[in-house]
Parts: sequence; structure tokens; C-alpha cells
Amino acid sequence: MITLTGKKISQGIAIGKLSFYRRDIKEIKKIYVKDIEKEIQRFHRAREKAISELEVLYDVSVREVGEANATIFETQQEILKDKDYIDVICSMILEEKLNAEYIVQQAAEKFVSKEYQQQKPYGQGHEADVRDVALRMIRILSRSWKDRMFVDEPFVMGARELYPSEAVQLDTTKILGFVTKYGTINSHTAIIARTKGIPSVIGLGEALKDEYEGKTIIIDGYEGKVYIEPDYTTLTKMRQRQDANLTRAKNLERLKGKENITQSGQKIDIFANVGTREDIENVLRSDAGGIGLFRSEFLYMENGNKIPTEEQLFQVYKLAAESMGVNRVVIRTADFGGDKLAACIDMEQQDNPVLGMRGIRVMLEKEELFLSQLRAILRASAFGNISIMFPMITSLEEVENAKAMVAKAKQSLKNDKIAFSDNIPIGVMIETPAAVMISGELAREVDFFSIGTNDLTQLTLGVDRKNGKVDKYFNPHHPALLKMIRIVANNVHLEGKHISICGDLAADLSMTEFFIQIGIDELSVAPSQVLALRKKIREIQ
Ligand code: PEP
Ligand code: MG
Repeated sequence: MITLTGKKISQGIAIGKLSFYRRDIKEIKKIYVKDIEKEIQRFHRAREKAISELEVLYDVSVREVGEANATIFETQQEILKDKDYIDVICSMILEEKLNAEYIVQQAAEKFVSKEYQQQKPYGQGHEADVRDVALRMIRILSRSWKDRMFVDEPFVMGARELYPSEAVQLDTTKILGFVTKYGTINSHTAIIARTKGIPSVIGLGEALKDEYEGKTIIIDGYEGKVYIEPDYTTLTKMRQRQDANLTRAKNLERLKGKENITQSGQKIDIFANVGTREDIENVLRSDAGGIGLFRSEFLYMENGNKIPTEEQLFQVYKLAAESMGVNRVVIRTADFGGDKLAACIDMEQQDNPVLGMRGIRVMLEKEELFLSQLRAILRASAFGNISIMFPMITSLEEVENAKAMVAKAKQSLKNDKIAFSDNIPIGVMIETPAAVMISGELAREVDFFSIGTNDLTQLTLGVDRKNGKVDKYFNPHHPALLKMIRIVANNVHLEGKHISICGDLAADLSMTEFFIQIGIDELSVAPSQVLALRKKIREIQ
């Protein structure tokens, strides 16, 4: 048995076979094949598999985004079934004696070329579909990680490092947990693991060897330990621990429906943080009082190269609004930048992204993108109790400009005669020291506030939250931070407005009493943390 120690980022025990994640292959190798017949069969098997994936995608999309948006998956199936598509690829494999991946890629370029489009109508206007189909085929042929998720038994994922845009796409029915060589506790990858409740240990360094592929692994997300090929005693102990956790979770279930109230009668709301459609279900199960932070950028990050349409976004926001009924759903407008990059959003590389184009700055520059998101949020506001929140605010001017965009989105919906809630509450995140200092002025401009302790810590202490080397300096208990939180709470309350905390410090049970003392109105945490926090509140005198 090999024991490794890393950084614990998400609690829980996971036991399974380790499989290393391979980033989707960018460079497709050209390989000569001896057995042409076998290669052609390999192509056909991949083609059938791609068709069945697309059938599933079509069904899911019809349900989730409507028939009109789902038709692309039908078109893509037609391409794969097209006789000409099949013949061209098979004869290319035959003539060139090359591997199917390489030929599929070459063929895609041929199909989208001008000469070919004149002969074959499906190429016209469907270039993106042809390329998408090729990518799917190449992924299946090269058995990359997404493919594994589609077919294999649940497994424990290993990776060198996992980007947030990758973590957000993890299929929780297939991934039992994950371990990485590098990464940091306060990154969005860690936040996603906590939000989805995936046991994870990161930062194991080169001790996490590629040769462990396929071996049994245990992740102890409580202790930050990882066991490779565990001995019988460890395996038994960890299984017992898994059972004990289940019992503990069941016991917490008894707190469902109970108030978040201290022994002396002080109340505080507990809301939940989400990022994807799947997380909404978890909020319902968690018994949170609403959604305190919808990290809306995740919907873009999980959507590959395509910007989600207004309709797509609207459907998810509407689901959130309807699921929560009268309870509040705070949708934070997309907060790109830092470690949150989406393939579909064009952002230049920046030397210091944490202090660069981020959050509200990005959306104010990308007017069309902002308007489309705001229209989607406003449309969903007709179906429940939605609020809009702006991220990374540093000035009153940004708030004014963002509010002007809301007004513009409202006007365009009025012109289109589409319903929305005209008095939708507007709030801002307090996650920069500047916002703390002008919180009094901001409190006269907006309806509510939420403190993002993750960014506030990194910007106040000058500690990059995605630099593992400075993890130990990332101290949200620093007196400067506590003072700032107190100042904001006072300023906001002086104006009679609502203040919540939605950064990770909200779930830190050693802070709960302090937050109640200074009159924080709401704590917004990962769905899996709601009941433990309720238990803590109910134990406070
Ligand atoms: C924060 O900064 O604390 C926050 C809640 O926003 P995010 O973690 O998404 O940056
Ligand atoms: Mg933030």
C-alpha cells in the first residue's frame, strides 16, 4: 500500500479504480496501419457510438432546451449516416493506409472546403456541425476521458491539474472522486468539487505516478490522504468510515424543515451556492432557503466552444426560479477571468489575470453578451423570485453602467412584448477592498450585498488564490478581513439593506458565531454544507 498526502478540498471518502484524465487531444498523430479492414471496422464502431451519443443528446436537449435547439444533434446524426460521408472516409483509409482519427480529421476539412460544398449540400451552413462530428469521432476513437465517462463504470479520476472549465463538466454519476498532482485549495476547481460534493485531494505532486493507472485507490477527503492499493485493514476502516458518514448525513436529515435559530433566538438564513443545472436539484435536497449565489459563468464554461443562447440560459434560470418557488434566487452575472475561462468566450491572455479583465469589467465591454444574459435572467424573473447580482465591483460608476444595461435589457423585452419582473432586486458582491471602503455609498445604490470572501481575501492579503505556493498565506481569518466584514455589515445595515456572505468562509463553522453577532442576514454555502451549518447555528447559545 502506498500512502500519499495532499491538500483536502472536498470532504468524503471515495473508493474505486484510478483512471488518469487525458486532456482532449489537440494534435492528431498520423499513423500507418497494417490491418486496413480492422481500421475500417474501428471507424464504423466509433460512428455507431457517436450516433448513439447524439441520440441521447438529442433527447436530453429536447427536454432541456426545446426541439428547435436540439435539431443540431439530429443534423449531426444525419451526417454520420450519410453514405457519401462513410464512403469518402472508408476509401481514404483504404487508399492512404492511415489511422481513422487522422482520416476523420482530414475528411472534415475536405467536407467543409468550397469545392466539396458545391457537390454536397449538407456542407453548406453546416461547417460547424461537420467539425463537431469529427471532434466527437476523434474523441471516441482516441478514447479520451469524456468517452470513458460515457461508457465506463464509476471511477476515481487522476489528473496533473484540473481546470475549472473541466471540473464543471465532471459527470458525478461516473466520477467517484478526484486526485491531482497540482492545484490550490481556493481555486474554482476546489469550489466546484465542494459544490458537487465530490471527495477530492489535490496537490499530491509527482508522488501521484502515472503507473498507478487502473489500481484501486482510496481518497480520504477528510484527512487529505490517498491510499493506492490499500491493504485489507485500511480498506475495511475506510468502508466503515463511509458508512459512518452516511449515518451522520442521515442524522442531519432530521434538521430538515427546522429553523436556523440559536438557543437564544437569533436567526440567520442559510442559502446555497450553485453553478449548473444539476446543482439545483441538490439545493432542493439540502433544504436551503434559496439560492444565494448562482455562479452563472459555469453555464458558459461547460458549453464548450459555443456561447449558450439566451433561450438555453433562460431555461436553466427558469428551472431555478420555479424550483425555489417563493424563495430567492440570486443570479450573479457572468464572472469570467482569473481562473474562470470559458472556451466560448474570447479573452486575451493576461500576465496577471486576477488583476486584469475580470467580472463586471468583461461584461461591460462585451455588451451583446451581457444583454443576452440579462434578457435571459429578466425573462426567468417572471417565473419566480429572482435577483441580479454584479461581481467584482470596484466603483459606483460600474454599478451605474451595469444598471443601465439592465434598463436596456428591460426595454428590449418590452419592445418584444416579453414578460419580466420590473422591480427585480439588484445587488453587488463585495469582494474588493475598494467595494468595502465605498460600501456605504453602494448601499444607497443597490438593494442587497453579498461578501465574496474568496476574492476579498486574495485581494486584501495579496495572495493569488490559484497559486499553490502561497496557499498557507491565504488566511480569511486575518484581522483585516474580519474588520472589513464588520465594516460592510454596519454600512449596509445603516441603509436598512440585506447582507449575506457567499464566499467559502460562510461555511466555516468556527466563524458562525461571529457572523451572527455582527448581524449577517444570510450565509450561502455549498448544498452539502447546509445542514451541518444549521446544526452549528442551533447549538450556539
Ligand atoms: C468569492 O470571491 O468569494 C466568490 C463568492 O466568488 P467566486 O468564488 O466565484 O470568485
Ligand atoms: Mg469572487
